[in-house]
Amino acid sequence: MSPRTQVIGIDEANFLGAGLVELTAQLADAGRQVIVAGLDTDFMGRPFPPLPDLLCLAESITKTLAICMRCGNPAKHTQRLVESDDLIVVGAAGMYEARCRRCFEPGIPKQDLLDFAKKGTDDIYGLRSAAPFNPGA
Ligand SMILES: [Zn+2]
Repeated sequence: MSPRTQVIGIDEANFLGAGLVELTAQLADAGRQVIVAGLDTDFMGRPFPPLPDLLCLAESITKTLAICMRCGNPAKHTQRLVESDDLIVVGAAGMYEARCRRCFEPGIPKQDLLDFAKKGTDDIYGLRSAAPFNPGA
């Protein structure tokens, strides 16, 4: 990095690990403006490291929302559409979609809903109620 560098932009911070916290602190302490973007919650709605620590270090925070792919309301969640318990599953279109608080279904991949519907049952809400969102879990 050039000693003349004044502004550093970092995207996808949720993929860059805990070391990013110390690095951004060092850069900011050295007088650089550091702009970091990333998801603050994971596919289950849990805090997504290292964003919580980065938020605590920040002088300024702008939280942006997407548009819910189901209902069009402001969306803060990332709905995983494929089955995996891994924290990070990198994927393109069709693997994730933005969801609002009401439409977010942590832990229920879309394929389960499709399989459920194929069985001839129209009680999709029954499936949803089997795994309610529990922010304390
Ligand atoms: Zn919605």
